[in-house]
Amino acid sequence: MDDWMNRFKQLGALWVHDGEPKRPHALLTAGGHSDGFFNGSRIVEDPTMLCHVVTAFFAAYCREEGTVLPDRVIGSAHGATPLAVELGRMMGCKIGWTEPQSDGSMLLKRFDVRGQCVLVVEDVMTSGATTRSIIEAVQAAGGAVLRLVLVVFNRSRMTALDGRPIISLVHHPLNEWKVQQWGTCPLCAQGSEAVRPKANWAALTADYPQEG
Ligand SMILES: [Zn+2]
Repeated sequence: MDDWMNRFKQLGALWVHDGEPKRPHALLTAGGHSDGFFNGSRIVEDPTMLCHVVTAFFAAYCREEGTVLPDRVIGSAHGATPLAVELGRMMGCKIGWTEPQSDGSMLLKRFDVRGQCVLVVEDVMTSGATTRSIIEAVQAAGGAVLRLVLVVFNRSRMTALDGRPIISLVHHPLNEWKVQQWGTCPLCAQGSEAVRPKANWAALTADYPQEG
């Protein structure tokens, strides 16, 4: 797991705050503040890394489920779609993706999964809400969702989602502080600035203390 952590950090896919108060921290899309950030795009944009990740997924699947492969692998558009494509290629099965709706739910609208065993893959798990929506969409379309869920980076504290084991390459819980509810976060209280991570990656990963 440490090996994957280091590889993700080197690739610019993962950043974890080191406690240095001068270092900024992450302002998440939903408004929360966090001491870490995972950007799955840095992985799926790199075909070699994508292949390594999916090979590890395949091995983890076989350890858990043996040699009975799914009929289809499904991820959510767009972050997990390349994972589904590559894992499906390796498993020799069909692939598909769910699409987010304006109400926050997921819809499986392009693929007929009736009667099929479907494996769900995710790039990142935070609260589990997205994964739960994918599972519900597959089930609503008549598919049977396999017991386990494969996740590249599990930033939640959960090891199972509604009884389904979460099999992740890296399980590293990250904190998220809801400043709208609590007024502040511990990193803000120490003087660290909250910044949008993708646009401020250099500041997040800079060497501290900086000169000048
Ligand atoms: Zn903060």
